[in-house]
Amino acid sequence: MPDNRAPTAHCGRLQIDLSALARNYAAIAARVAPATAAAVVKADAYGLGSGPVASALWDAGCCRFFVAHLDEALAIRDELPPQAELIVLNGLPPGVEPLCARHGIVPVLNSLGQAERWAETARARDRRLPAVLQLDSGMSRLGLAPEDGVRLAHDDRFRQAVDLRLVMSHLASSGTPDSEANAMQIAAFDRLAAAFPGVPRSLANSGGAFLAAPYHKDVVRAGIALYGGSPSGGPADALEPVVRLDARVVQVRTVPEGTGVGYDLTHRCTRPTRIATIGVGYADGLPRTLGNRGAAWFDGRRLPILGRVSMDSITLDVSDLPAGQPEEGDWVEIIGPHQPVDVLARDAGTISYEILTSLGHRYDRHYRPFAGVNSGRPA
Ligand SMILES: *Cc1c(COP(=O)(O)O)cnc(C)c1O
Repeated sequence: MPDNRAPTAHCGRLQIDLSALARNYAAIAARVAPATAAAVVKADAYGLGSGPVASALWDAGCCRFFVAHLDEALAIRDELPPQAELIVLNGLPPGVEPLCARHGIVPVLNSLGQAERWAETARARDRRLPAVLQLDSGMSRLGLAPEDGVRLAHDDRFRQAVDLRLVMSHLASSGTPDSEANAMQIAAFDRLAAAFPGVPRSLANSGGAFLAAPYHKDVVRAGIALYGGSPSGGPADALEPVVRLDARVVQVRTVPEGTGVGYDLTHRCTRPTRIATIGVGYADGLPRTLGNRGAAWFDGRRLPILGRVSMDSITLDVSDLPAGQPEEGDWVEIIGPHQPVDVLARDAGTISYEILTSLGHRYDRHYRPFAGVNSGRPA
C-alpha cells in the first residue's frame, strides 16, 4: 500500500482491496449456496477496474461474469481463461451477433427480435450458440413479455439453434426486503420459468442474495455487495469495504467571521474559520450535492464541507483540529473506515452505485493484490 509521505503528483489516491473483494465473494457464495454466485462487472466493475476485479474474482472461484454491453465483455475476454463465461445483460444491437459468437460471449436475449437474430446467427454458423433468456417478471425494463416467453419455449427451431444456459429476471425492489413487489415478482418468475424445465434460473442481485433462500434460485448475480456497498443503502448488510479514497490538502488558511466561501458564497463563516482546500471536486466524481452537506475526515474528526463543490476543489472547515493540522500535502479521508461509501452517498442524496461508477480518472490508483491465487479455480 502507498507510503503516506511519498511524493505523488495526483490530487487523490484510490485504493482498491482485491483481497477484501475476494472475501466478499466468498461470503456471498457461502450465503447463497447451493446456488452459485456470479459477479456483475459492468461499468468497469462499478468503476473499480474490470480487468483486475474480474481476474481476482476468477482466482476466488467465480466462473461467471455479467457485463452490460458487448464491448465490456470484449475488454475482459483476454484477462480471463476461456472457460470463464461472459454474459451481456443488455443483449446485442442488430449486426454485432457474429462478433459476439466469434469471441464465445453469451448474450442475454431480451426480445423476440434478439432471439430470432441469435438463432439465425447459430444456423448460419451451423452450430448451437449459448444464450441467457430474460423474462420480465414485473420491472418493465428488459426482458420478454410473458406471452413471448411462452412462444419461444415452444418454438422448436429456436430451441434447436440456441443452447439456453439460464433463464433470468431482475427484481425491482430487492433493496427493500419487505416490499410486496418481491413476492409478486418471484411468483411471476416461477410461473414464466416453468415453461423452460431443466434450464437453470437466476433472479437475485445483491439485494436478492440477502432475501430468503427461494430468491437465490441457481445463480445469484452479485454486484454492489462485492464492492462493499450495501444493496439497501443501510450499512447493516454491507460486507467488507473494498474502496478507500483520500484527497490531498492543497492549501490551509484562516478567514475572518462573515467571510463567504466558494461559488456564490453559499456559506458565510459565523466565526473565524480555518479552511482546508482539497484538490478534488465534481470532475473527480464527488457530486455537487455534497456542498454544505458532506464531509471529509482527518485524524478521527469529521470536517464539514463549506460551500459549493467546485470542479477541482472542495473547502473544508478544519477549525476544530489542533493548530497546524492538517498541513499542506496531508491526506484527508473521503471514503474509508470513518466514512463508508454508503454514508458519502447518503450525504450526496444518491446511492453507493452512483458514487462508485462516477469515480474519476485523475486518482492515483493502487490495487492491494489477492493472495489466494488459483484457489477454487476449476480444473
Ligand atoms: C446491475 C445488475 C445486477 C447487479 O446488481 P447489484 O444490485 O449491484 O447486485 C444484477 N442483475 C442485473 C440484471 C443488473 O442489471
